[in-house]
Amino acid sequence: MTMPYFVDVSSSLHEKILNEGRRENVINVEIYSDDPDDHVLVDRYWAMNEDGKFKENVADLLPYKEIKNIHQLTQHISQVSQAWDRNQTCSHCEGFHQVFVRADIRRTLQKLKTRCVDCRNLEEENQRAEKLRLRERLEKLTEENLATDHDYSEISDDAALILLALHQAINPRLLSGTFMYRDCINLTPSDSDFFIDKLRNSQILLSHYLAAKEGTYSMNGDEIWHYPAQACFFLVPDSKLGRSENALSILENRDYTDHLALRNLWLDYAVADCHRYLLDQCIDYDFQLEEEESKQMKSIFRTALEIHSVSELWSMVWKIVKDAASLSQRTYSNSRKASATIPGKAQRFLEKVSKGENTLKQWARREQHPEGTLGQVFWDYFSIDATTTGSEVFRIFDVVIPSSDEVGLLILPSKELMAKARADGIEAEVLICLAGFIRQGLSVVDAIREVLQQYSQLGLPQESEINEEREDLGDD
Ligand SMILES: [Zn+2]
Repeated sequence: MTMPYFVDVSSSLHEKILNEGRRENVINVEIYSDDPDDHVLVDRYWAMNEDGKFKENVADLLPYKEIKNIHQLTQHISQVSQAWDRNQTCSHCEGFHQVFVRADIRRTLQKLKTRCVDCRNLEEENQRAEKLRLRERLEKLTEENLATDHDYSEISDDAALILLALHQAINPRLLSGTFMYRDCINLTPSDSDFFIDKLRNSQILLSHYLAAKEGTYSMNGDEIWHYPAQACFFLVPDSKLGRSENALSILENRDYTDHLALRNLWLDYAVADCHRYLLDQCIDYDFQLEEEESKQMKSIFRTALEIHSVSELWSMVWKIVKDAASLSQRTYSNSRKASATIPGKAQRFLEKVSKGENTLKQWARREQHPEGTLGQVFWDYFSIDATTTGSEVFRIFDVVIPSSDEVGLLILPSKELMAKARADGIEAEVLICLAGFIRQGLSVVDAIREVLQQYSQLGLPQESEINEEREDLGDD
């Protein structure tokens, strides 16, 4: 191999053509061989006359040494030289397009739709470097995330409830692995991503960048872009108890006192429960709400939920979607026009309800519409379900659970006590025993604990004891 020998096989022609405002069959060639015969061969192969036609037929160049056919000849020429067609320029760098055989050249000037070989090679090299840079960034970020921990006692009340519900929804993955948005759909009847994002925003769930499938993340300058649907998350461990059932029990047994946060969480959940009913009804009637209409409906639900129950709003949804469906059958209407009327119908329906001109009914949950594990958590902790009115929920969080620490402490032991008593059918005995301890001067929470401790000895008390206790209670 020697230094490339540059030949402009038709430079005189090129100049002539440029002067005439035309460019045709202008080839640049570099020859890398020491053999003078190769130089002559390559020159002859690409040489053109003034009409822009090749001077010689390729067949006339044969035989060349051992080479007997055209295919071998062009292969040999490609091995000892490279050629570029000045009529074809790269879409990116404006460089000339590499050509291998005469058929590759163009008679008129044209810009290629694709990039030239050099650009493609450079691009591939850049992509490899970018991929490596991305991988290093993702490794570092994942390492940082995996080294993070969280004091579970500092998790907010609303996040704690979502976390407990999430554990039920994706058990056992919350404690043992990673998961994606789509794995969490059993958390709420709709919009489960919204609730997952609350945990992500609180830094309780973090991204595991390396667990996501290839192509999820990409670099855009210095920023990392990603497809949210493919992102994987994991639960940040508690600083003392790690990622364990014990750590979650800190949340189960805590004192839930942030009523504003709990009430707002219930509103978010209840809106999702109403929205799911709306989505199912729309599917039945082949309606598709636009994003803005969905947002309007969620706002309407949220306001109405301050007074009404979820199941009452389902009855409204059932009615207005049915009305929209009959509207869509009319000659001047169609499905799109009719679905656009749904938010307005809902608004007017509720206005009439507030004036006493319309009534809401308790409506049943549809079979394909689950309450979600967050709904179960609201039932387990606060006895709130779809039939509980918004006013009642607000009362529960404002009045029934005052901000005293003691009531918060009562929730779980009293749940345990009542569940046991009901299971064994000795509710009355348990209450009598509890009343006895309170009369002795114990605080309510201590009395419950005392009853729990004595529970196995409670059994079925003597008839005389019950009567005696009843009389005592009556005196109070
Ligand atoms: Zn290029």
